Amino acid sequence: VKSEIPNDELITYRKNHLGKSLSLQYKVPVKMVRGSGQYLLDQYGRKYLDTVNNVAHVGHEHSAVVKVGQQQMALINTNSRYLHDNINELAQELLETMPKELSVLHFVNSGSEANELAIRMVKSVTNEKDIIASEVGYHGNSNMCIDISSYKFDGKGGKGAPEHTHIFPLPDSFRGKYKGENTGELYAKEVKKQIDIVQSKGRGIGALIVEPIISCGGQIELPKGFLQKAYQYIRAAGGLCISDEVQVGCGRLGKTFWGFQLHNVIPDIITIGKPLGNGHPLAAVACTPEVAEKFANGMEYFNTFGGNPVSCAIGAEVLRTVKREGLQNHALKIGEYLKTELQKLAIEFQIIGDVRGQGLFLGFELVDFENNPLGKHADYLANRMKDHGILLSTDGPDHNVIKIKPPMVFTKENAQELIFYLKKILAENFMTTY
Ligand code: PMP
Repeated sequence: VKSEIPNDELITYRKNHLGKSLSLQYKVPVKMVRGSGQYLLDQYGRKYLDTVNNVAHVGHEHSAVVKVGQQQMALINTNSRYLHDNINELAQELLETMPKELSVLHFVNSGSEANELAIRMVKSVTNEKDIIASEVGYHGNSNMCIDISSYKFDGKGGKGAPEHTHIFPLPDSFRGKYKGENTGELYAKEVKKQIDIVQSKGRGIGALIVEPIISCGGQIELPKGFLQKAYQYIRAAGGLCISDEVQVGCGRLGKTFWGFQLHNVIPDIITIGKPLGNGHPLAAVACTPEVAEKFANGMEYFNTFGGNPVSCAIGAEVLRTVKREGLQNHALKIGEYLKTELQKLAIEFQIIGDVRGQGLFLGFELVDFENNPLGKHADYLANRMKDHGILLSTDGPDHNVIKIKPPMVFTKENAQELIFYLKKILAENFMTTY
């Protein structure tokens, strides 16, 4: 048996030899050595309930997914210039879940690559490079993706919006620019304002990119009517509409398989990432035939790994597993139960200001009596929950939102355990003084 490297040695080595901008989760970092379903195990055999991993969509190391990956890896792995059944099978599985308007796919390796390709498509179709995106939105780590990610360029180390990026205010009906009911039209008008700014400079619109629930923004649900109206404005200005489904896609939201379907719109392009490979690097871009046609302007699109037989076997099995195990409906049922329990907790503990989300993509916000964000409390809560073997994460511009997005096999008993410990810690001294 290979001997273990102690955690302090791992940390020291990382400090010296891995990039300084890589971060580690938790004040006392953890080494995970095994995963199974909704659980992770550290090197001491300690079991953690994972409530934050929407990448391990059908469960960590799901046996059916592992098996098809291992089998295909032993046979052949090549690029998509050779014919292979797997790429067609994955395409068929994906297209089955989509409206017929979105019928052409490109396979890539990460959410960033998917959004990068989506923006390239926009440029080919519209000949414009001005992009409208949400405040505190995040779309990936490449040059172009950072340029449209307010979460990054408006945050630490950022240099503000580039000339061709136009940011509308975070459509947050709890603490945003417009609060309360019926804010959809008001936020859509903010998108229109950005369109007017671009046009006043004598330029046209490339695209609007937005997530159906803005994840890094703090699990912000788009207000009713917002997306329909915003899409109308964008299309009237000649732009395309991109739905970034990297976080929320593949049935997680319960009511619908894709986030845009909650809003009765059909995007021109959707980008898919995290859940599709259940941890294996696999992502995709789906678009209309019109977009695909214009993108194919004679320049070959080649991607060494995108669409390889191993990744495609894994992706197809992930989608089959979601179907076979009824995980979309399970996410709806368990998500609704958990959201109701969190809402009850919010009545008991005033520090919880808002509970939101859909299916198994939920969040709650910690605030004081005047709805000021309590980021330190959220950080404390996440660290204390870890002490009790439950993994949670914080996000939002003020880091005061607790995000819950577990593997989809999360059960009612898991939800009860989560609520039990939240209740216990919310009653502790630090959480009741602010
Ligand atoms: N879009 C969204 C909404 C994301 O949350 C992320 C990653 N957190 C990305 C794109 C980029 O995906 P990746 O890290 O796989 O490149």
